Amino acid sequence: MEQAQANIGVVGLAAMGSNLARNLAHHGNTVALYNRHYSRTQTLMDEHGDEGNFVPTKTIEEFVASLAKPRTAIIMVKAGAPTDAVINELADAMDEGDIIVDGGNAYFPDTIRREKEIRARGLHFVGCGVSGGEEGALRGPSMMPGGTEESWKTLGPILRSIAAVAEGEPCVTHIGENGAGHFVKMVHNGIEYADMQLIAESYDLMRRGLGMSASEIGDVFEKWNEGVLNSYLIEITAEVLHQKDHATGKALVDVILDHAGMKGTGTWTVQTALSLATPVTGIAEAVFARGLSSQSVQREEALSQAMSGPDTHISIAEEEKAAFIEDIREALYASKIVAYAQGFDEINAGAQEYDWNIDLAAVARIWRGGCIIRAQFLNRVSEAFESGEANISLLFASYFKNAINQAQDSWRRVVARAAMNGIPVPAFSSSLSYYDGLRSDRLPAALIQGQRDLFGAHTYKRVDKEGTFHTLWAQEGRPEIQED
Ligand code: NDP
Repeated sequence: MEQAQANIGVVGLAAMGSNLARNLAHHGNTVALYNRHYSRTQTLMDEHGDEGNFVPTKTIEEFVASLAKPRTAIIMVKAGAPTDAVINELADAMDEGDIIVDGGNAYFPDTIRREKEIRARGLHFVGCGVSGGEEGALRGPSMMPGGTEESWKTLGPILRSIAAVAEGEPCVTHIGENGAGHFVKMVHNGIEYADMQLIAESYDLMRRGLGMSASEIGDVFEKWNEGVLNSYLIEITAEVLHQKDHATGKALVDVILDHAGMKGTGTWTVQTALSLATPVTGIAEAVFARGLSSQSVQREEALSQAMSGPDTHISIAEEEKAAFIEDIREALYASKIVAYAQGFDEINAGAQEYDWNIDLAAVARIWRGGCIIRAQFLNRVSEAFESGEANISLLFASYFKNAINQAQDSWRRVVARAAMNGIPVPAFSSSLSYYDGLRSDRLPAALIQGQRDLFGAHTYKRVDKEGTFHTLWAQEGRPEIQED
């Protein structure tokens, strides 16, 4: 049997796994390689075998034997059943104390289940969210590992060696036990959906509302990237908008079919938020907006029936245009703050539900580099959590409270204009409604409680007395009885 020599192994050498393996090798790790079909391993060795120390293997047994103890293997295979199959093969071949890391996009309840099963077999199982796509895997991703403290002792130095670095700090931290890492990665993706939707709404307002060209709007995003909105997503938006289609000479964005795809993490974020009763309205609207964009049948029918609505062109004087663009920027910023506040609320709710001790400031810090939502703004988010000002919500931290105060007139003008001109802004408007709902001293929920009591005897509480009450709606005079 081959002598153990690799300090880490990667199973699954498609785009993500091979780039992660190369990144590991670039940072001095000796990396064992295994893929179900050896051809991928061969390709990696042929094309990049000289970039570092690799140990290519042909069977899972050979792979496990090539790892030094405690053996540590990162799985990067298709999520779902393939991941379960590979985990089981590895667990069969490994010994007590060895560590299996799933770096795929697993749904966190699967990670909780797998961790329990693997722990019962005496091994460690770490569900690790990896963000940054293929490029991130190669050049430095942001990583969100769960699992035990003990496994983190072995895994920590390896992951720190390959993570993105933001302001001198590696973008990886031990998130919490079992499924905590994949939970946080899921919410990261949900926030990414909201961020992208808000950018898309800003673009639509300038494109259809103000009649600007894609490249003019690209210039606006380029400028916005120099201020508080500075982020990877704003940067790539400018790049996409400046891109020409070689075949037609048109702006590329104008020839891309307007159906947004999704792979499921946004949906999981919203489903989980619903089960935790945590409103993540910005993320939910972003998921629904992608859904609507892909409803071809309904959209075609609406067009063929020429459903009525106002002209989307916003008629304002040329000299007022710059001010309106500034309003859009402020609306984007305020809505973004709400989306992040809601995402962090969901992490908090998940931590309480699943008994995880998650450091929200550390989460914000590891999102500053390597991942898709990396942004300057996350420095302020981490400071807000560190200071304790964001304990209840990010919206109460003075920096963000002031930012929203400053933005809110613009925010309201943009949502009102969009409604008047028939331009959909679901994420802008739902974020504003959330904000207004939060600050209302009295909500119409009182009426809903009355309705619920009438049709279902669901009871209600009163503002002036302790206890639970029910009105005998069917009886004359509608007497009220106290239930407890
Ligand atoms: P894919 O999700 O396309 O998966 C392909 C890999 O899975 C191949 O190595 C394939 O092996 C292996 N595989 C599939 N079925 C099985 C099976 N039954 N048994 C063993 N191996 C199997 O690869 P990606 O590199 O795109 O992604 C890997 C993981 O990383 C996924 O979970 C994905 O969700 C996650 N991820 C992806 C990101 C991205 O940007 N692509 C970003 C972050 C995470 P074979 O070559 O033999 O077919």
